[in-house]
Amino acid sequence: MRLFEYEAKKIFKENGIPIPRGGVAGTVEEAGKIFKDLGSAVLKSQVLAGGRGKAGGVQFADSPSELKEKAAVLLGSEIGGFAVRSLLVEEKLDIERELYLGVTIERSQGKAVVLASGRGGIDIEELARTHPDQIVTELVDVRRGLRPYEAADIVRRAGLTGKTLRQGAKILEQLYDVFWKYDAEVAEINPLVVTEDGNLIAVDAKMNIDDEAVKRHPEIRQEDSFLTDLEREARTHSLGYVEMDGEIGVIGNGAGLNMTTLDILRHYGGEPANFLEVSGRTYMRAEQAIEIVLKNPKVKAIFGNFFGSISRCDVIAQGLAEAIKKGKVTKPMVVSMRGNGAEEGRKILDALGVPIYENDQIAGEKVVELVKGG
Ligand code: GDP
Ligand code: MN
Repeated sequence: MRLFEYEAKKIFKENGIPIPRGGVAGTVEEAGKIFKDLGSAVLKSQVLAGGRGKAGGVQFADSPSELKEKAAVLLGSEIGGFAVRSLLVEEKLDIERELYLGVTIERSQGKAVVLASGRGGIDIEELARTHPDQIVTELVDVRRGLRPYEAADIVRRAGLTGKTLRQGAKILEQLYDVFWKYDAEVAEINPLVVTEDGNLIAVDAKMNIDDEAVKRHPEIRQEDSFLTDLEREARTHSLGYVEMDGEIGVIGNGAGLNMTTLDILRHYGGEPANFLEVSGRTYMRAEQAIEIVLKNPKVKAIFGNFFGSISRCDVIAQGLAEAIKKGKVTKPMVVSMRGNGAEEGRKILDALGVPIYENDQIAGEKVVELVKGG
């Protein structure tokens, strides 16, 4: 489970890692209140996607009017495919340098791996491509943990000296503790900034908790409070459903395929109303998926895009066929199917008069036409 930045920062703070002053706002008014204590602020979209800065999801405000204006824009927007439902409003820091610290799991070795770099602020993947020599990595035996002298040595090799080295080493130890204590798969600070007055502060926070271990940490997230009603309902059926603002309901098997589907729709001028993943153990729930998608009153048509692998297209098609036969598909539906069981699946749906394609771009164009045309 990926945590929101504000959730990860709360954990950081409780474990001694310095974070900027600020708070979480769900409305422009709340943002305004937090701003009063800050003077000038950073507004950070709380979405479960990386690269927010590049996508325009991180904005600065130096006056109450600028804050209101930018908070209003961000709260109505979508960053990386996710609706922005809350903002982290934090003091704007004067940054001298951006560093990187991370802890993750090295599965092949059954160990933890600590990463540090004097070049923070860019994606670690990108850094690994462009400047692999600028990343210090160290495997850690999880039974033994990370020793203070090891933490110090790692940040020293990343180029830190003096007071920055001492603070950096301590933060790395704390980050490792957080990683361990919360059963994290990833705990990352990017950037860890050196401010102009020479202090280290975690400006960004990323944590992924092992799904199997989430139950052990009920304090992390209160009661699904961030979900819409439909998203909560979908969860009770174990369906991954994310609500968006458009008119085309999207069902697909696989997160990557869903992202592609959203791109196809937007390419042809359509806007997705949601994406819903039926895959893994949920791929036989196409009928429930249809029900959830159509409960959103904005939906004018459904686009089902499926690529059969372990989840076979014919099984998904049977689920869709059930829903059609029971009269549950009350809006036009266009489907694309490829891969395992696709031929069979296409036959099932074709017999029921569903426009069905092998090519998802053509199917996407059709569904956008349907919505635009009427
Ligand atoms: P990300 O794009 O999702 O990784 O969002 P980050 O929280 O890492 O912010 C992106 C970038 O915005 C950082 O690398 C900084 O360069 C910049 N930034 C964030 N907070 C501040 C701040 O308080 N002051 C200044 N000057 N820049 C900031
Ligand atoms: Mn970042």
